[in-house]
Parts: sequence; structure tokens; C-alpha cells
Amino acid sequence: MSSESKSGTGLSTLESVQHMVDTAANALDLTERERKVIQSPFREVRVELPVRMDDGHWEVFHGYRIQHDNTRGPFKGGIRYHPSVDEDEVTALAMLMTWKTAVVDVPFGGAKGGVNCDPSKMSKAEVQQITRQFVRRLGNIIGPEEDIPAPDVNTNPQVMAWIVDEYSSRSGYKPGVVTGKPIELGGTVGRIEATGRGCAWIAQQALTKLGMPFKDSRVAVQGFGNVGSHAAKVAAELGAKVLAVSDVNGGVYNSDGLNIDSLIEHSKRTGTVVEFDNAEQIDNDSLLCIDCDVLIPAALDKVVTAKNADRINAKVIVEGANAPTTVDADDILESKGITVVPDIVANAGGVTVSYFEWSQNMQHYYWKIDRVREELQAILLSALDEVWSRSERDGCSLRQAAFRVAIERVITAKRMRWMD
Ligand code: NAD
Repeated sequence: MSSESKSGTGLSTLESVQHMVDTAANALDLTERERKVIQSPFREVRVELPVRMDDGHWEVFHGYRIQHDNTRGPFKGGIRYHPSVDEDEVTALAMLMTWKTAVVDVPFGGAKGGVNCDPSKMSKAEVQQITRQFVRRLGNIIGPEEDIPAPDVNTNPQVMAWIVDEYSSRSGYKPGVVTGKPIELGGTVGRIEATGRGCAWIAQQALTKLGMPFKDSRVAVQGFGNVGSHAAKVAAELGAKVLAVSDVNGGVYNSDGLNIDSLIEHSKRTGTVVEFDNAEQIDNDSLLCIDCDVLIPAALDKVVTAKNADRINAKVIVEGANAPTTVDADDILESKGITVVPDIVANAGGVTVSYFEWSQNMQHYYWKIDRVREELQAILLSALDEVWSRSERDGCSLRQAAFRVAIERVITAKRMRWMD
């Protein structure tokens, strides 16, 4: 999403994040210095990445690493490879990482990186060259105790493996320089499923808090990639009926609930959920508006907007994707009494298990899956409890409550570190 892309309110992604922080900061007792510092990144790096392409010609790509805050621990956040990557987008995502790590209280700050390229049109060798060049140009601003990247859009465990290799070639074997690695190279069990599993647990807990059973509740999931497919699978395992799911090609619906294991198998085989047996075909807009208890947008940003918020028929929205709801849609959902569990809580399962991965790397001691799941569940549900209580106490939305909890945590740490 480029900086020109606007939400329904005319705000760019960066402006939307700054608006949410400003609104939360107004409710907190912050000094002028504190307000200004949290609205701007600690460090912004832009590097050029010259790469000889497979056909012999040279291309120069641009890479960004924006480090927003490291008051509570090393900078942390993914690296995305996409043609729309620009400084504003990466800055907005870096800021969200600071508030995400703070609200779940893992000892990291926030950062994000990106390279302006289109991996779908590049060979594996070209992507590898870009990655290694990026690591060389970033130099010592990344590292296990400095800044720890992770996968994001169009980057994966293989890209993380190249980062480990390039970084370790000058610093000795340092798997803790990135998370989301292959398990054979210091990755952790339970990382791939973590974000989607977390969304399902959060959905279950949110319905319980609202006095509704999760068993037999009706769930719709937009996006059937990493987050959406695991969210749907775990929701079904927990007894919910997953009525509808979709991907970029369209969606499928069954009022009695879809068989998610078969759908995962169908999607792996055909590359899409569409034309799954025993289901009606629906489009993505209809999916967002179906009558259900829980809606999990787990594909893109800005899908719930002022144009469709009025037609949303869910009781709870669990934001699996980053920033799926625009600022003006938020107001409409609130007026309709729809509970929105914001992205910085709902999809924090990934960064939480990244924290487990990093701490296993630092100790060279590896956990079993049961421990990963147990500790993940404890962290996520306790963050949701805290945000829920704060929202009740302050009479504000869960999103505002989450920002208030996160900002307070960062500011408290800053006050302890600052001289005056
Ligand atoms: P993914 O690439 O694995 O899956 C994306 C899914 O969205 C695919 O099924 C794709 O077909 C679908 N999609 C793409 N365009 C669409 C469209 N126009 N309409 C409907 N569906 C569309 O990505 P992912 O890792 O599952 O991430 C999804 C979202 O969750 C992103 O916003 C990402 O930033 C966020 N997120 C992911 C993680 C993680 O651990 N993977 C953590 C936090 C946040």
C-alpha cells in the first residue's frame, strides 16, 4: 500500500496510525517531549541495492529499515518485498510494531523493513542477491541485540536463512539475528501457526467475555493464507462453525460449516478455495457482510471501510490482518455495537512466538510445541484481559484501550531511562 493510498477518511496508513496514537496520547498525561518522540522514528535508513539480474543487466533496488523505538528491548519487525514499498508505509508498520510488542509485553521495540521489488517477476537467485546485499548495506544496525527482522509480505524462512548466513559470515553463527527461520536453522516449532491460532483463541475469549459460547458460533474468515487458514482450522477445532472463507480469487460458503481440513487440502491442490465441494461461491465483499458471530479479516489492510461498515453483520471482528479497518469505519462499527479486537492484540501471536524463537536462540535450548502453545495462549489472553478491562474502565474502544496500555508501557520505560 503506497503512501498515496488513502483510507476512507483521506488518511494515509501513516496518518491513520499517528491519528490513533494522538487520540490515545490525549487521554494520557504525556509531556510535549514524550508526545513528539513517540510520533517519529528513532532511525530511518534507506539503502541502494545494485543487483546483476540473471540476463546480465544491472538493477538498483531501494531498501528501507525504519527503527521506531527500542526503549523496552531490541527493535523488532518484518521485512517485506513488494513494488508498493515506500518510506511512509514502512514507517507506519514500524510504529505499529512498537505498540504491538508493548501491548503483549514482550521485551522488544518496533521496526519494519522493505525492499521495493516484485519477487513474483524475479528468480530465486535474484531474490537471494537482493537479500544478501540488503544485509551487507544494513551493517551493524541489525543484530540479535540490536534489531531483529522477520518474514513479512513475500519474504519467508528461506529469505531468513540467507540473512542468517550473510550476517553470520562476519559475526560468527548468530541465528538470533532474525526470527521466522527454518526449524533446521534455529527456528521454533509453532511459529507458522502462531498468528492464526492466536486469532482463534482471541475470538473464543472475546465471545466468552460477551457471554456467548464459542462452540457452534458462526465464523467467517477473509484470506486463506498463513493467518486465515490457521485461524479457520483452530476455530473449527475449538468447536466453531466456519461458515465462509475466501482468498484473492473469491470465497466459499456453507451455512452448516465448511470442512476446514478438506478445504486446506483442496486449496493446496488447486491453489484456491473456490470450487470447493459442498459450498456456495461468494465474493469477498459478501463474505465481509455475512451474518456471523466472528469475522476475521486476515488478508489485506483497509477492507472494512465507510462503504461497507454499515452492512457488517458480525458481533465481533478479530483483526488478523494489519490495519484492516479504516478510521471512519471504526466509528461506524462502534455505533453499531460491534466489538473490534484490534490488530495489535489480535495478530500478536506471530511476534510473541518470534520472541520465544529469539530467546531459544540466545539460550541454545529448544522448546517442545506444547510449551510454545501454552505460553503463547497465556500471553495473548492476558493482553486481551488487560485491554478489555482498560476499555471498560476508560469507556473507550478496545483499539483505544490497546494504544493506551502500549503507550503507557513505553513511556514508563522511557521515563526510567531519561535523565530529566
Ligand atoms: P499470506 O500471503 O499467507 O495470505 C494472504 C491471503 O489473503 C491469501 O489467501 C490471499 O489469496 C488473500 N488475499 C490477497 N488479496 C486478497 C483480496 N484482494 N481479497 C481477499 N483475499 C485476498 O499472508 P499472511 O501471512 O496470512 O498475512 C495476512 C495478513 O496478516 C497481512 O495483513 C499480514 O501483514 C498480517 N499478519 C501476518 C502475520 C503472520 O505471522 N503471517 C502476523 C501479523 C500480521
